[in-house]
Amino acid sequence: MNTTASPKAPLPVPTTDHLEERSRRARIEPMSVLPLGDGLYEIESASDNTYLVDLEAGRCTCPDHVFRDARCKHVRRVAIEITEGRTPPPGEIAVPCHDCGEPVFVDEDAPEPIYCEAHAIAPGDTVRDRETGDRLTVVDVSDLRADAVTIREADCTVADYGTNENYDSDVPVVGAVYPHANVKRNGVVPRSLKVYTFPRTRLEKAPARRNEPPETPLRSR
Ligand SMILES: [Zn+2]
Ligand SMILES: [Zn+2]
Repeated sequence: MNTTASPKAPLPVPTTDHLEERSRRARIEPMSVLPLGDGLYEIESASDNTYLVDLEAGRCTCPDHVFRDARCKHVRRVAIEITEGRTPPPGEIAVPCHDCGEPVFVDEDAPEPIYCEAHAIAPGDTVRDRETGDRLTVVDVSDLRADAVTIREADCTVADYGTNENYDSDVPVVGAVYPHANVKRNGVVPRSLKVYTFPRTRLEKAPARRNEPPETPLRSR
């Protein structure tokens, strides 16, 4: 799984705080923090040295910690970045969204693909089929993988189905219907509707149509 480092930059300093020197330097020095999992973080310091921080143990591989046993600026920086939502806490890692690359904080063992809030899909959402450009409405996002679900009519799995061969076989299966289907957000599908199954990565969240009517009609005064 790829992980993402926070940008190597100084952090804004709260003007009201009287910070001690290590805390001040923890903020103002440009450092990047790369979460490695297991509560470990790799720090690239302002001087381009690389140190390893074990946050929960409060340990760091830098000389300030090793020789002076100080709570060094690197340990402090990791703690600050977690508090401010720039770096994931122990147990989580930052993974790029499959569709846009934005870092998303997820459990270390979360299955891929990972999506940010803007690209995650749920029943009722409109998606675009990357193969055909068709728009569909999602009725179900399954926990089952594409290579574990059989398409009865085709007598093969979703993963093996001809037009799905360019997509990963280990991603979740999504059920969707073609438009004109008035699918409710409660997931109830009328019996006449045929639900088609797709590997998750074949579908992308579709932006709302520009010609969709506004929710409240505009009134002229
Ligand atoms: Zn350190
Ligand atoms: Zn995204």
